[in-house]
Amino acid sequence: PKPLATRIAFVTGAASGIGKAIAERLAAEGACVVVADLDAEKAQAVASEIGSTDVAVGLAANVADEAAVQAALNEAVLAFGGVDIVVNNAGLSLSKTLFETTEADWDLQHDVMAKGSFLVSKNAARILVDQKLGGDVIYISSKNSVFAGPNNIAYSATKADQAHQVRLLAAELGEHGIKVNGINPDGVVRGSGIFASGWGANRAKTYGIEEQDLGKFYAQRTLLKREVLPENIANVAFSLCTADFSHTTGLHVPVDAGVAQA
Ligand code: NAD
Repeated sequence: PKPLATRIAFVTGAASGIGKAIAERLAAEGACVVVADLDAEKAQAVASEIGSTDVAVGLAANVADEAAVQAALNEAVLAFGGVDIVVNNAGLSLSKTLFETTEADWDLQHDVMAKGSFLVSKNAARILVDQKLGGDVIYISSKNSVFAGPNNIAYSATKADQAHQVRLLAAELGEHGIKVNGINPDGVVRGSGIFASGWGANRAKTYGIEEQDLGKFYAQRTLLKREVLPENIANVAFSLCTADFSHTTGLHVPVDAGVAQA
C-alpha cells in the first residue's frame, strides 16, 4: 500500500469518540484526514485541533443522505486530491427493547448505520477504484454484530448488516486492491457520545450499577480486566492500513479486551 504519510482518510462520525481517535491516530501517522460528521461545528473543531487545513478538514456529512455523502467526498477530493482510506464509523444507539422499538426507531438505526455505511462505501469506492491505487475501507461494527444482548435489537441488526457489507465489499473490491475489514469494539464508555446520550444510563440500570461505574464494570467483565478506550480501536484501525496487513481482507477484529469470550 501507499505509505500512510501520503494517504488521505475519510472518517465518518469523527467529531466524537472512536471516530475522533481514529482521525487523530491516522493524522499522527502522517495521513491527511477528513473529519466528517453530522455535527459540522464539532467536526471543524476536531479538525483544527488535529492541525491546519493542509492536514485536516472538518465537514458536515449526514451519511444517511446520498447527496450529502457525495458533496462531502467531493470536498475531500478538492481539499486533498483523493481518498485512500474510508472509515465507516458514524453511528448512534437508541438502546430499546423489542417492544419499545418503533418503526421510526428501526428506520433511523438502519438509515445511519446500514444504509449510511453502504452509501459512503459505494461513493468512496468509485473514487478509490478510479485512482487505481488500492486502499482500505474499515467498518466500525460491534461485538453486537455477532453476540446478542438486551435492549438493542435495531442497533444490533444494523451492526450485523455492516458485518456482511464487509464480506460483500471485500469480495467485490478485492480485484482493485482495496481491502475491506471490520472492527468489533465493545464497552468503550469514556469519550463515547453513545454512552453519554442515554445508552450508558440504560446499561447501568440493566446491570443495577451507577452510570459512572460502567467503565470499571465492563473492564471487570473482560478476560483481560481492562477498560477499552477509543485509542485501542484507533490503534487497530491504523494497523489494518499498514503493509503488515497487506494480505488481510474480509476480517473482523474484536477489540473488546476479551469480553466476547467471557
Ligand atoms: P459517539 O457518539 O461518540 O460518536 C458517533 C459520532 O457519529 C457522533 O459524532 C455523531 O455526531 C456521528 N453521527 C451520528 N449520526 C450520524 C450521521 N447520520 N451522519 C454522520 N455522522 C453521524 O459514539 P462512539 O462510541 O465513538 O461510536 C462510534 C461507532 O462505534 C458507532 O458506529 C458505534 O456503533 C460503534 N461502537 C461503539 C461501541 C462503544 O462501546 N462505544 C461499541 C461497539 C461499536
